Amino acid sequence: MSVIAVGTMAYDAIETPFGKTDKIVGGSAVYVAYAASHFVQPINQISIVGNDFAREEMEELKRRGVDLEGVEIVPDKKSFFWSGRYHLDMNTRDTLVTDLNVLADFKPVVPDSYQGSEFVMLGNLMPRIQIDVIKQLRVRPKLIVMDTMNFWMETSMDDLLKVLKMVDVLMVNDSEARQLSGEFSLVRAAKAIMKMGPKYLIIKKGEHGALLFHEHNVFFAPALPLDEVFDPTGAGDTFAGGFIGHIAKTRDISFNNMKTAIIVGSAMASFCVEKFGTEKLKEITRTDIDQRIQQFVQLVNFDIALV
Ligand code: AMP
Repeated sequence: MSVIAVGTMAYDAIETPFGKTDKIVGGSAVYVAYAASHFVQPINQISIVGNDFAREEMEELKRRGVDLEGVEIVPDKKSFFWSGRYHLDMNTRDTLVTDLNVLADFKPVVPDSYQGSEFVMLGNLMPRIQIDVIKQLRVRPKLIVMDTMNFWMETSMDDLLKVLKMVDVLMVNDSEARQLSGEFSLVRAAKAIMKMGPKYLIIKKGEHGALLFHEHNVFFAPALPLDEVFDPTGAGDTFAGGFIGHIAKTRDISFNNMKTAIIVGSAMASFCVEKFGTEKLKEITRTDIDQRIQQFVQLVNFDIALV
C-alpha cells in the first residue's frame, strides 16, 4: 500500500492580512506527506533539500512513517524558497519570490526499495522531474496523480504537456485550469484538459470546494465553511495528500471512491488552513479527521421531495 510522494521540501515566507512568517518549513511534498501519512505508511518521499533544512523536521517526518531514502541532501546549497502574499479574500495570492536553489539541478533517483509502489503523487514541482520519476518506475503504478501550477505553465509548458500524457489524474485550481485550456467555462476547460492525457481532472476552487471530472461525469465537493482561515498555504498539497492517502488505503481507484477521496482531501485541507504552515497537520488525530469528515456529510446531506 505504499505511496511515492514527489515534490518540493521548502522554506516559505508567508504574508496574510492577519500575520506574517519568516522562513517556515513548507513545500508540496512536505504537505502531501503530513496529510497522506495519516492514512497510509510508508510514504516514499522523493525530493531534495539544502544544508539549511532542519534535521528535526526530517526526524518528525520519519516518525510519521515517511521514508526519506529518496531525499537528496546537498551540503553546499540552499533549499527551495518560496514567498507569497495573500489578498484580503485569502483565496488569491501573489507569488513574491520563487528561488529554485537546489531544485534547479535536481536529478531524482528512485531508490530500489520504492519500486513496486502502487500509488504515486507527483506534487507540484518541475514537470521534467515528474517525467524523470515516472520513467524510472519499473512497474506502472495503479494510479499516478499529479499537481502543477501556473509557474510551470509559464516556464516549462512543453514538459508539462509531456507529463500530462503519462498520468491518470491531474489536480489544478480553477485559474490554472483556465490558463492551461484557454477556456473560461470550467466544463469546457475540463474537456480540453482531459484530451491532453489525464482521464480524471480535479479542479480546486479554494473556499468554494472542488470538482471531479471523468468522461461525462462531474462530482462537486464543498469546502467546509470555517470560522477562521489563518493561512491557506499548502491547502492544495494537503488536499492531494488526503486524496492519495485515502485511495492508497482503500486500493480502490473507481470514480465512486474518488468522490470519497475528494471529501477526505477537503477535510484535510480544512485543517491545514487553520494554522500557519504544517502546524495543524501535526496536531490532529484520527478522531479529529473522522469528526471532520462527518461534518462534510452533514453539510451536504438533504432530502428533497419533487413537486
Ligand atoms: P499550495 O498552497 O498547496 O499551492 O502549496 C504551497 C506550497 O507549494 C508552498 O509550501 C511552497 O513551498 C510550494 N511551492 C510554491 N511554488 C512552487 C513551485 N513553483 N513548485 C513547487 N512547489 C512550490
